[in-house]
Amino acid sequence: MDVTEETRVLHPSRQELISDLSGIVNDYPYADPEPTLAGLAADAAGAIGRDGTPEARRERAGYTILLHATSWYLASRVHSASLFEAYIRALDGLRSGPAGASCACADGAHLERLGGEYQVEAGVSMLTRAGWAEFTEDYDLDEEDSAAFTCERLLADLADEAVGELSAARNQTFGDIDVSHLDAQFVREDGSLDIVAAQESIRRTWEDNTGPVALWSARRLLSGRVRDDERIGLHLCLWMGVAQSYAGLPPSYTRDIAAALATVDLDVACAHPRHPWSSVPSKTKARYSAVVHLYAPDDHPDTPVPAELSDRGLWECPVQYAELTRKVLDDLRKWRTARGVDGED
Ligand SMILES: [Zn+2]
Ligand SMILES: [Zn+2]
Repeated sequence: MDVTEETRVLHPSRQELISDLSGIVNDYPYADPEPTLAGLAADAAGAIGRDGTPEARRERAGYTILLHATSWYLASRVHSASLFEAYIRALDGLRSGPAGASCACADGAHLERLGGEYQVEAGVSMLTRAGWAEFTEDYDLDEEDSAAFTCERLLADLADEAVGELSAARNQTFGDIDVSHLDAQFVREDGSLDIVAAQESIRRTWEDNTGPVALWSARRLLSGRVRDDERIGLHLCLWMGVAQSYAGLPPSYTRDIAAALATVDLDVACAHPRHPWSSVPSKTKARYSAVVHLYAPDDHPDTPVPAELSDRGLWECPVQYAELTRKVLDDLRKWRTARGVDGED
């Protein structure tokens, strides 16, 4: 056993680790991938600075290759602020070569052209002397081939690529999303809001606008720059943006949405038997028609809301606001549970 093996967080056999990580890079994990990736990041961090021997250099390279191979999964499937940090810190620590260094490897010698599963097998094998011996024999690698696996240029490129991908994913998931460009689309020159334009934007499903419109509506509500007659329209845009974000929205969106909803009084009562939104079928077209009719009835005469429920006072009843808000809060709760989001959320 190599010296460092005893201190590792992950200590299944070489074959087990290859199998666990291959499942992850193939998007078909056999077990909960989060603890495995966290263990990998911790073990990689432990290898930082170990540099004195060829074995230590190979181990460091192995971890770089493994973090690179699994980073796409982390970026797109796992929403964990602490794991993003751990990966980025480990990748930065593992790199030692200068950025943009040239290398003397033969064309095609770098493993980056090969698939994730091969990277996993190579990376895991590089962690132990015995594993590496087996790997080089299995793939019939000569000394020159082997050297390409610890090429500083290759490792710097892999680390750069993974860090770039993870930083972008971290920002998208936890960072500050800028939706100020929507002002130009939804705010008229006199400062009033164009609710119909916001609805049109949600309707263009191919542009993936539900999250941005919900976030923009939430920020507008929080800013207080809302006229009385615009308030219900903004709430409905927020509601639809959330209800129609079927894959869920990350904390970068839900933070401000939750803050806007926190301003709504949920402890309210009224004597109305029903409110308008409860009469709208849960189809995107029907919701759209109801809102655009409310703001531009001449241009959009069709609405699913019956005449007896279309009174403006019913639309703006505090109980309807509370009903809308409870539904959105419920969606946010479900997303949190489904994603197991940690960190600042
Ligand atoms: Zn090279
Ligand atoms: Zn009411």
